[in-house]
Amino acid sequence: MSTHVICDFDGTITEEDNIIALMRQFAPPDWVELKDAVLNQTLSIREGVGQMFGLLPSDQEVRYREFLLSTITLRPGFIEFLQETQSHGFRFDVVSGGMDFFVHPILEGHVVPEHIYCNHVDFSGETARVTWPHSCDAYCSNDCGCCKPTIARQIVSPTDTLIVIGDSVTDFEIAKRADVVYARGQLISLCETEGIQHIPFETFHDISAHLKGVRV
Ligand code: MG
Ligand code: ZN
Repeated sequence: MSTHVICDFDGTITEEDNIIALMRQFAPPDWVELKDAVLNQTLSIREGVGQMFGLLPSDQEVRYREFLLSTITLRPGFIEFLQETQSHGFRFDVVSGGMDFFVHPILEGHVVPEHIYCNHVDFSGETARVTWPHSCDAYCSNDCGCCKPTIARQIVSPTDTLIVIGDSVTDFEIAKRADVVYARGQLISLCETEGIQHIPFETFHDISAHLKGVRV
């Protein structure tokens, strides 16, 4: 039996949501309406985020990347936590609704690409176009874009001890089937509402400290 950690990226490994930061900096004002439509669920994440990226001219690709790489802050304790998971022999996967052009460079040297699941942005056209390599399978009708439950069905073995770390509604479905949930932000209130056991955290130091006291 092995232990498998599934960890969100935006707002979990990083302090902020990077898609929001990117749009705030580079998109024309229309993005706000799209974001609000996603938040009040009149647009699916795939449609809303897809349309937001469609507002970004491809020829600024280098600036988008440079902006995010210079502004992204990792949540304290992440690198140490990653080393602990390695020394314990845990499998560690990043499952993210973020985009490869910033997720991969930020994690470079820490997490190998085979353990990163995220969306892809194609900058070959006039505007950015998101492709969705991990869209919903037959068991999900949410039009997630990056479907975390679908990925979990593919990569989590039923015999694994599953640890889920996240901060938002997109982490909730896999949190439901986790053995241990570390939650911050909106994920805390969602877990509370549905009576799902969880451990609130602010930094990865909190998670490391808690894990020391638990046999997983
Ligand atoms: Mg998140
Ligand atoms: Zn889905």
